Amino acid sequence: MAQLSLNHLSKSFGAGRPAVNDLSLTIRDGGFLALLGPSGCGKTTVLRMIAGFEQPTGGSIRLGERVLADEKSFIPPEARNMAMVFQSYALWPHMTVAENVGYPLKVRGIGGDARSRKVREALASVRLEDYADRRPAALSGGQRQRVALARCLVTEPDVVLLDEPLANLDRHLRQEMEETFREFHRRSGATMVYVTHDQSEAMALATDVAIMSEGKLLQVGAPEAIYAEPEGRVVGSLIGQGAILSLPIFPSSPRRLDWLSLSHALRPVMQPHPDVRTADVLIRPQDVELAPEGIQAKVETSLYEGERYALRLTLSDGQMLRAFSRLPVRVGELVRVRIGSGWRL
Ligand code: ADP
Ligand code: MG
Repeated sequence: MAQLSLNHLSKSFGAGRPAVNDLSLTIRDGGFLALLGPSGCGKTTVLRMIAGFEQPTGGSIRLGERVLADEKSFIPPEARNMAMVFQSYALWPHMTVAENVGYPLKVRGIGGDARSRKVREALASVRLEDYADRRPAALSGGQRQRVALARCLVTEPDVVLLDEPLANLDRHLRQEMEETFREFHRRSGATMVYVTHDQSEAMALATDVAIMSEGKLLQVGAPEAIYAEPEGRVVGSLIGQGAILSLPIFPSSPRRLDWLSLSHALRPVMQPHPDVRTADVLIRPQDVELAPEGIQAKVETSLYEGERYALRLTLSDGQMLRAFSRLPVRVGELVRVRIGSGWRL
């Protein structure tokens, strides 16, 4: 019913590159899509067009059969049955938690028992039943964010739009809130679009991830699929802490090799062969092993992450590579590395 589709959606704010450029995307009814991309790539503009706060300069937006915006028509935000949660959660300080959550119902003229019941249900869905009579100042940042979620849930929106809602919270709280969002999605059944520039947040939360860069949609799919098969250099560099290495390969090499030593991959440079060409290869840190028969690399940085050290290495030709090591490795040290399974072109 509430499948959301964006068709050739564009938005220009003036001359120059459009903020959103011919973006087409479908989010199934009850789906949870993360819109991921670097700051300034147009994520908020997409969300604001879905909500109705911005009018597209091209293309259309539909919710089910209903056209929300195209060149002829424009449904205003209040008639779209959507709710938007922002990074700053904007609660009324003089109202209690229950009054804040009930406010959108009050505005719609819903009062009495119906309002109290919906407020109770919304608070229960974010596990804040016991905080109904408190004021926002008496809550933690995570609890305030949950009140903001409950307030958006109370109107039973078809679509919930979230614009970097966790950006102001510390790491520990963010993980707790990720749980809350997943549960919120399960319970509400709403179609959700979640904007973030944080890839781990996007991958952990959503059933689908859409990657944007410079106003354009680059790839959309399940987190696992995008991680396994990033389409092109930009997605590859946005997802996973990979390094892109230019390596000489044989064109007949399979797209994924089970195992290839880096020294073996580089050998054709020393012994030129007519079939060899150079290709950009995305190599993730977990694809790299420290091994005595590998090629030499210099340790540029070594960060202890508990469990392991995250290394940034340079090869003799100056190319950069990332790797993990269980054993301590010092900056400046020379190590030997080989590329393990799963490397791709
Ligand atoms: P993101 O949310 O991914 O950081 P935005 O959608 O906020 O990106 O912005 C995309 C581009 O559009 C940026 O270059 C930004 O400066 C521009 N932009 C956004 N809103 C406006 C506006 N109201 N007027 C002019 N330019 C805007
Ligand atoms: Mg933004």
